[in-house]
Amino acid sequence: MLFGRQSDVAGKGWFGKVSGRRRWRLSTKLLIASSIATVIGFSAICTSVMLDMRRGEEELARQTLENLAAGIDADISRNIELYDLSLRAVASNLVMPEIKGVTKEIQHLILFDHAATAKHFGVIQVFDAQGNLTHDAASLDPAPENRGDEDYFQVHRANPDIGLYMSRPMLRRSAYSVVFSRRISDSDGGFMGVVVGSIRFSYFHELFGRLTLNPGDTITVLRRDRTIIMRTPFDIEVIGKNLAERPSWRADNLKEGTAYAGVGPVDPTPRLYVRSGSTNLFFVVVGKPLSTILNLWHREVIRIGAIMLMLILFVVGTTLFLAREIGRRAEAEDKLEELATTDALTGLKNRRKFDIEIDAEWRRASRNQTPVAVLMIDADHFKAYNDTYGHQAGDQVLVGIAICISDSVRRAGDCPARYGGEEFAVLLPGLSVVDAFAVAETIRAKVVQWSEDPVTTVSIGVASVTPTAAIDWTNLIEAADKALYAAKANGRNQSVVAAISQLALVA
Ligand code: GH3
Ligand code: MG
Ligand code: MG
Repeated sequence: MLFGRQSDVAGKGWFGKVSGRRRWRLSTKLLIASSIATVIGFSAICTSVMLDMRRGEEELARQTLENLAAGIDADISRNIELYDLSLRAVASNLVMPEIKGVTKEIQHLILFDHAATAKHFGVIQVFDAQGNLTHDAASLDPAPENRGDEDYFQVHRANPDIGLYMSRPMLRRSAYSVVFSRRISDSDGGFMGVVVGSIRFSYFHELFGRLTLNPGDTITVLRRDRTIIMRTPFDIEVIGKNLAERPSWRADNLKEGTAYAGVGPVDPTPRLYVRSGSTNLFFVVVGKPLSTILNLWHREVIRIGAIMLMLILFVVGTTLFLAREIGRRAEAEDKLEELATTDALTGLKNRRKFDIEIDAEWRRASRNQTPVAVLMIDADHFKAYNDTYGHQAGDQVLVGIAICISDSVRRAGDCPARYGGEEFAVLLPGLSVVDAFAVAETIRAKVVQWSEDPVTTVSIGVASVTPTAAIDWTNLIEAADKALYAAKANGRNQSVVAAISQLALVA
C-alpha cells in the first residue's frame, strides 16, 4: 500500500508536467491565432478608417463644390434678373400708346433711362416685327441693322410665351457675349418685335477671376439645353458646343443637384463634378480633379500603410520567434520527459513510467471490465554472474534480457520496463492469465536461446486480474511478485502463475 501511495504521488507530479507541456503547445497555437486575429483586426480597422477618411474627403469636396456652384449660380442669376428688369421695362413701355406721340429723345429717355448699365452689360436694342433696328440705348440715330435671321428673333416670333430667352454665345458688337431677349407683344398678343441685350464674357472672366481655383479645377456655365456658355479654364473650342453632341457623355451622368465622379465631356481628367440647382435658363457645373481631392488621403494611406506594414512585420516576426522558442521548449521538455521515463542502460521504460502506465491501464480496464496482466521477471543468480564476469558483462546481459522482452511484447499498450537492478516488469493490458503465461514462456525461452555460454535464465511471476472495487494495481504487482518468489523457490528458470487465492486474499 505504501508502494501504491508513493506511485500515486509520483503520478500526480508527472501528470502536472504533462498538462503543463500541453499548455505550452496550446499556447503556440493560441499565440499564432491571436497574432493572426490581431493583424486581421488591425488591418480591418485601418482599412475602415482609411475608407471613412476617403468618404470624408469626398464629402467635404462635394460640399465645397456645391457651395461654389451655388455661389456662382446666384451671382449670374442676380445679374440676369437685374438685366431682365430693364428688358421687361423696355418691352412694356414700348407698347404704351403715349410713347407714339413723343419725340425720339423723350422716347429714348422713357425706354432706356432706367436701363441697367454696367461695364459687362451690352447695349439694349429694340427690333421691330421685321427684324429692323428701331431703338438703340447707345444712339438716337443708330445705323440700320436687321436681325431677322438671328435665332433669338425667330424663337420669339414663333413662341409668344417663351419669356426671357438666352442665346448661344456669340460675337456681338465685337465682344463675345450671351444675348438675352424678350418678345414685345401688342395688347392682342401679336408679335411686335424683340428687345435685346447682352452680357459680355468679361463678366464671367471677372467672376471666375475672383475665385481661388486650383490647377485642374473647372467651372462650366451651360444653357438649359447643355450648350456650353462659358468655361474656365477658357477654351474657345468648347464654347458654344452642346454636350449632347459628345458621344462619351451621357446626359444622366449629371442630373440637377447631383454629383458625378469620373471623366467629363471636355478633357480626360477624372473629376468630381457637381451641378447647381439653378433657374430654367442655365446651370453651373464645377469640377475638381479626383487626384487633388484624394491627394491628402493618398499621402495618409501611404503613411499609415507603411506604419501598419511595419507593425504587421513586427507582430509576425515576434510571433514566429516566440513560436519557435515555444517549439524548442516543448521539444526539450519532450526529450526531458523521455529521459526521465527511460532506463539509460536498457532503453526500456523505467519504474516511474511503468507505474504511470499501469495506473492508467488499470483505470481503463476497470471501466471496460477487461483483465490486466503483469509479468515480474528476475535474472537468476545474477550476483554470481556479476562476480564471475564482472559488472560490465552483467550490464550486457541485462541489455540482452531487455531485448528479449521487447521482442516478445509488441502490442500497443504493452509496457516492458526495468523495475530495478536485474528485475523487469511487463504490463500486458487485456491479457488473460493463460495468454500472459504464454508471453512469459516466450520471454524465458528467448533469454535461454539468446544467451550462450554461460546460459542466462530468468524466473517469471505471472498475474492477471480484472479490476474490482476491492483491489488496486499494487495488489496485482504484489501477486506477480509472490509468483516470482515461488518460481525462485521452485528452482528458477520457470514461469509461475499467481494463485487466484493470492489475489483473492488481497481482495
Ligand atoms: P536470484 O537468482 O535469487 O535472483 O539471485 P541473484 O543473485 O540474481 O539475486 P540477488 O538479489 O542476490 O543479486 C542481485 C544482483 O544483481 C546484485 C547486483 O550485483 C546485480 N545487479 C543489480 N543491478 C545491476 C546492474 O545494473 N548491473 C549489473 N551488472 N548488475 C546488477
Ligand atoms: Mg533480484
Ligand atoms: Mg536475481
